[in-house]
Amino acid sequence: MAGLSTNLVHADDSLERVPDVVQPINITTTFKYSDDPEELVIAKEIDDTKISTGRPVYSRLSHPNSTKCEEVLSTLLNGHVVIYNSGLSAFFAALTYYAPKVLSIGNGYHGCHGIANIFTRLNGLKQVTLDVNEIDQHIGKGDVIHLETPVNPEGIAFDIKFFADKAHSKGAFLIVDATFAPPPLQDPFLHGADMVLHSATKYFGGHSDLLAGCLVTKDPEVKYQLVRDRVYLGTNIGNLESYLLLRSLRTYEMRILKQSENATKLVKYLADNIDKYSALEKVYHASLEVDEKPFIKEQLSGGFPPVFSIIVKDPSVARQLPSKLKYFHHATSLGGVESLIEWRAMSDSKVIETLLRVSCGVENVEDMIADFDQALSSFN
Ligand SMILES: *Cc1c(COP(=O)(O)O)cnc(C)c1O
Repeated sequence: MAGLSTNLVHADDSLERVPDVVQPINITTTFKYSDDPEELVIAKEIDDTKISTGRPVYSRLSHPNSTKCEEVLSTLLNGHVVIYNSGLSAFFAALTYYAPKVLSIGNGYHGCHGIANIFTRLNGLKQVTLDVNEIDQHIGKGDVIHLETPVNPEGIAFDIKFFADKAHSKGAFLIVDATFAPPPLQDPFLHGADMVLHSATKYFGGHSDLLAGCLVTKDPEVKYQLVRDRVYLGTNIGNLESYLLLRSLRTYEMRILKQSENATKLVKYLADNIDKYSALEKVYHASLEVDEKPFIKEQLSGGFPPVFSIIVKDPSVARQLPSKLKYFHHATSLGGVESLIEWRAMSDSKVIETLLRVSCGVENVEDMIADFDQALSSFN
């Protein structure tokens, strides 16, 4: 099998329909049926396991670039991939598929709590935390543990194997939101995950110009059901977004490795020099936890997440720091080639007001360090 970077450029070559080197942008919503009357199949005889890979019919079902995205992502993610029009659509689809009575969910991305709350409103989904006692007490057969790791906004890590074993001992399922550490940083399937979720808006997209998400499963039957559901949820990726995502995936490996390396170096600088800056109180990142969490070495074997968080002395520093940085735009989101910083309390009401989340881009890390140095020094 070819290497990752080769697959990212070539995994979809066999799906080419035109001689164009770059995939065309298909804007059509509907596709002509075959001209050969013998090839026409009536609805009740259609093989619905081929909705996302067969001849396209209507773009809510699939279209050429959504099929190509799934093909490239399946080589990257080591499983069967279903693509969606956002990460939250993917999470909605996962809960729709498993339909748990009880969901164990940690802090993590606020939007996933918003989805869980919709299920609670619609059909009384009971929600508990990731606390072991709560899991032991409430999680049963067919329920779901949803683990985000590394977790938003700190970029610190949880033990996938521990929660996989916990879930399976109860007859429950483990979904891992691995958005913060996509391959080759971490592979949740190696540690027992049943389903993996990524917001492709982040590192797979990587250019802050598209929304997408995906679910990954090891079981083709699960994929077929997810695709059948997606037809009616109406959450397939859009035409333009699928074109943009394919463009992005070609350079994905270089970007993620550089972003991970930049974050790890910047975190090390800040942690090593924390006493130099009176405004800086704490740095959170999985790279700083390797001694206390032995599983990190095995589970984040390909590198640390490109996102980390810092705690500053008081909320007024948190309010001002972004405006003092030259190379970190003050904006929400993460994963793009451009570095971002966010005073996180602006978009997540549950996060303390002294926390700033940093998403490292692909800039020169010496410039990033110098930028933090001058910004933090200004408070001394
Ligand atoms: C952004 C994000 C999501 C949601 O993805 P969207 O593409 O914005 O819908 C889910 N989980 C995590 C960890 C995220 O960072």
